[in-house]
Amino acid sequence: YDDRDGKIWMDGKLVEWRDAKVHILTHALHYASSVFEGERCYDGKIFKGHEHSLRLRRSAELLDMEIPYSAEELDIAKDAVLKANGWDNAYVRAIAWRGSGEDMGVAAKRNPVRVAIAAWEWGNYYGDAKMKGAKLDIAKWRRPDPATIPCEAKAAGLYMICTMSKHAAEAKGCSDAMMFDYRGYVAEATGANIFFVKDGEVHTPKPDCFLNGITRQTVVQMLKDMQIKVHERHIMPEELESFEQCWLTGTAAEVTPVGQIGTYNFEVGDLTRRVATEYEKLVRS
Ligand code: PMP
Repeated sequence: YDDRDGKIWMDGKLVEWRDAKVHILTHALHYASSVFEGERCYDGKIFKGHEHSLRLRRSAELLDMEIPYSAEELDIAKDAVLKANGWDNAYVRAIAWRGSGEDMGVAAKRNPVRVAIAAWEWGNYYGDAKMKGAKLDIAKWRRPDPATIPCEAKAAGLYMICTMSKHAAEAKGCSDAMMFDYRGYVAEATGANIFFVKDGEVHTPKPDCFLNGITRQTVVQMLKDMQIKVHERHIMPEELESFEQCWLTGTAAEVTPVGQIGTYNFEVGDLTRRVATEYEKLVRS
């Protein structure tokens, strides 16, 4: 996978895919000083690309790192990567991290903040499960208290529990895991936000300790435009039983229907299908 053709943008220039390497003493590898973005390019245009560039810079700022490129420069770099690889439909991964340098310890202000942008063709995140309704496990790990970690940042350190939760889910034959937060409220999946439907209205967890996804915000607005009531609130685990439909949102996940969470079942209903179709239309418009 490393030794393949293709171009990756690294610190201001395009390099060969196989040469896009970092040193083993990279600070980020030891101390998780890394932030990233996941974006999708549809028919030659990155959906909300500039918002993703701004979020990358904001995530870095929350981790006390300054990205040496403006959001506009990042936008141009992303387009250059897509063009160099000849892709019109692809997933784009931008990443910024504290590199190796003079500082070997926890504090590493003297080490440079580095940036790379890669892209690859990535189909449905949940594969065949996509329109049939994904099966979710219930994660044993919880989203942490905002007082313990900057949870607004799309930072690598916040994904350790996601990887463990998703591995455990896959071992049980599930596509993903739903996580509760530190208070026990329903939070999100390991890389996507979650929505529920009950009596024609939509309920989604209030994003006060996890990423308020760009797709989540897009879908909330879309529902409001459709005159559908959206309740952004704390959701108790006992309520899962009363919801009729459920879906996930995320750049990679797009709008993915959920058929099951633990022992709770949901139908892939009309509203779920409508939201998925409208989202697909919007990203390609
Ligand atoms: N939550 C987590 C933990 C994620 O990794 C993602 C994907 N970036 C999301 C939510 C959804 O965010 P977005 O819609 O901005 O892709």
